[in-house]
Amino acid sequence: AKMLQRGRATLFDEDLSASARVRINLLTRLRAAFCAEQLFLAYQPQVDLVTGRVLGAEALLRWETEDGTMVPPDEFIPLAEQSGLTVPIGEWVLRTACRQLKRLTDRGHTGFRMAINVSHTQFREPGFVAVLGQALQDCQVNPKQLELELTESVAIGHIDSTVEKIQAIRAMGITVAMDDFGTGYSSLSVLKQLNVDRLKIDRSFVQEVQENADTSGIAELVIALGRQLGLVTIAEGVEDEGQRRQLLEMGCQEGQGYLFGHPMPGPAFEAWMATVA
Ligand code: C2E
Ligand code: CA
Ligand code: CA
Ligand code: CA
Repeated sequence: AKMLQRGRATLFDEDLSASARVRINLLTRLRAAFCAEQLFLAYQPQVDLVTGRVLGAEALLRWETEDGTMVPPDEFIPLAEQSGLTVPIGEWVLRTACRQLKRLTDRGHTGFRMAINVSHTQFREPGFVAVLGQALQDCQVNPKQLELELTESVAIGHIDSTVEKIQAIRAMGITVAMDDFGTGYSSLSVLKQLNVDRLKIDRSFVQEVQENADTSGIAELVIALGRQLGLVTIAEGVEDEGQRRQLLEMGCQEGQGYLFGHPMPGPAFEAWMATVA
């Protein structure tokens, strides 16, 4: 029986494609890294495109493995999403970002806005709104200073419950941004129903603002759409002055990108804030 079992295990092993094995291995390492507190957040400034004033920051998840390599979130978040690991990680992100927000407020950066990314499964959790309330209370931060970045995918197949949940979240004072707008299966009617505060223009449209008439047309359309719906628009991935000027001309109000600042770990971000404020 032992032989047989071993034989089956080997067969199973060989059936697993190499890519599946790499993914399982990465997931195991991510789970261990999360337990060992090897994840951290980096904060990237969000600014007023006209004045350059810092309005807030987006918290971005970072994973540095023991040998010092950085695993990009685009690689491990989709994986964590499938395994449900994004729920505990997401709650940790929320609490860590709220604590950082409190520290900034205590250092005189009042009215600072902290944006966090919320995954699809985290948003769909029945207790999500309660978790938000608890984190805000525990960290003593003003709900008006917290923003959630959601992608259009949260609404797929759940439009009514998504509308309700966003309503409940906004009723608490928290603002909501539609992230990566224009890259998914966006529907204008869905955007209108979801009733968010801010529209984030995806980097892919921003990058071609000066190079390519077709895609810069998309950025312009999204900005016009935002204005039509009474939303503030924020462009992500703004890398140079030409893009900033062009976006401003198109009517975009806010920006985020290497032109204004790279994502920085908490202490570096605090030091940076002290130089710009
Ligand atoms: P995103 O939400 O679209 O975040 C913006 C990405 O653009 C970030 O990549 C940021 O570092 C990068 N970026 C910012 N400015 C520039 C620029 O000027 N030029 C270029 N080339 N890139 C710029 P990052 O940090 O690698 O994050 C990738 C994605 O991972 C995020 O895309 C987001 O979808 C996801 N993510 C990050 N943190 C979290 C998190 O805490 N929770 C969840 N659920 N997802 C997260
Ligand atoms: Ca985001
Ligand atoms: Ca984005
Ligand atoms: Ca993006």
